Parts: sequence; C-alpha cells; structure tokens
Amino acid sequence: MASALPAVKWRRSPRAKRIKLALCPWRGIELVVPKRASTAQAQAFLDSRREWMEKSWARLKRQVPEAFESAAPEDLILPAIWRAWRLVYGQSDFRDRGDELHVPGEPTAANAAGQLKPWLMAQARSQLPVWTRRVAARSGLTDFKRVQVRDQRTRWGSCSARGTISLNFRLLFHRPAVVDYLILHELCHTRHMNHGPKFQALLSRHEPDWRALDAELSHGSGGVPGWVGW
Ligand SMILES: [Zn+2]
Repeated sequence: MASALPAVKWRRSPRAKRIKLALCPWRGIELVVPKRASTAQAQAFLDSRREWMEKSWARLKRQVPEAFESAAPEDLILPAIWRAWRLVYGQSDFRDRGDELHVPGEPTAANAAGQLKPWLMAQARSQLPVWTRRVAARSGLTDFKRVQVRDQRTRWGSCSARGTISLNFRLLFHRPAVVDYLILHELCHTRHMNHGPKFQALLSRHEPDWRALDAELSHGSGGVPGWVGW
C-alpha cells in the first residue's frame, strides 16, 4: 500500500526514557530512541505504529491544512500590527513599498520563507519589546528584566526565572488582543512562575476574557501560514 507519510527521521536521545514518535506538520515525523534501546527494538516499535501514524498524519492534514501548502504566498497579512502587503516576486532588491513587498527570486514557498522570515523577525523586534513595555505600564507588572524576540519552535512566549521574556515572531500573525494577552500572560509569570490559582487570579484581574484568548492562541497553528512554518 502506498503510504502518504513523510520519511521518518531517527534521533538517538540520551534523555528519552522510552521509544516514542513525534509528529509535527512542519517538521515531519521523528522517532526518538533512548540510548539503551536497540535498532531492532526501535524498528519493531515503528512497524507496530504504522497504522496509527497514517491516521494521525491524515488528521493533522485536516486540522492544520496551511502546513501542507507549498505554493508561494501572494500576500502577507500581519493582523497584530494592522498591515498587509501584496508580494511581488522577481525584483532586484528586497523593498517595502508600503502596500507591496518587492521580493527577489522565484515565486516559491521556499524562496518566500528565505526572504521574508528575517524581515518578519526584524518587524517583530521593532514592535514586540515596545508592546511589552506598554502592557507592563498599563498593568503595573513592570518587574521584567528584558524582552527578546526569537524563532521558538514550540511556544508563543516564555518568561525565565531571571525575568527575561521571550516572544515568538509568529505573534505578528495574531490579532492584537491575542498578542496583548500573551504578553500579559508572560508578565504575570514574573510574579508566579506557574499556572496555579494565584497566577490565574492575577491574569483574570487584568484580562477577564483570558481563557477565550488562550484558546485562540493554542488552536491549530494560530493562523501562521504554511510557508512560515515552525
Ligand atoms: Zn505560562
């Protein structure tokens, strides 16, 4: 039977306790093998999970269809900052013309990602730290040390015990209210480093509707186009 599955990547892990499979619509399928497991054991595990993998992969295609699109984007829409551009390919220089972005190279998803991701990162770095200071001033939660914008693969944001807030550049693809919430969430972690009742009470005080916003953030890919990926 022809399989619609991508090739499974094997990874030896000194930390893993058991053999396990990780499925990510952007990064594919990874088989994590603990140090002490043999190749034969891992292969047997993989064979026994074939049907499960096919079902799960098909479900991911339904749930996160944008991850499986490979066409070049025709436009770029960043709800967080109320901006939209039409993309014009084959240009000699990368240029922001206000309502158009001039992109050198071929109209392919890979080229778009290569050209646009560094630019998106720069946009996020010019907007999100200022945004964080604004939310901090409004809420009085000003005890953070610094803000950094990164290309995290699994989360929208985090707050370290030292008070460094890290934000994912992909937040640009969310509504402003959702970005506001995520920043507030991380600022609340400067008081409570967990998601316990005190944390939730603090969050509720500043954003009574936080549960709905949190759900919007964790739904599927959160509106991030497939060519941007994770
Ligand atoms: Zn949290």
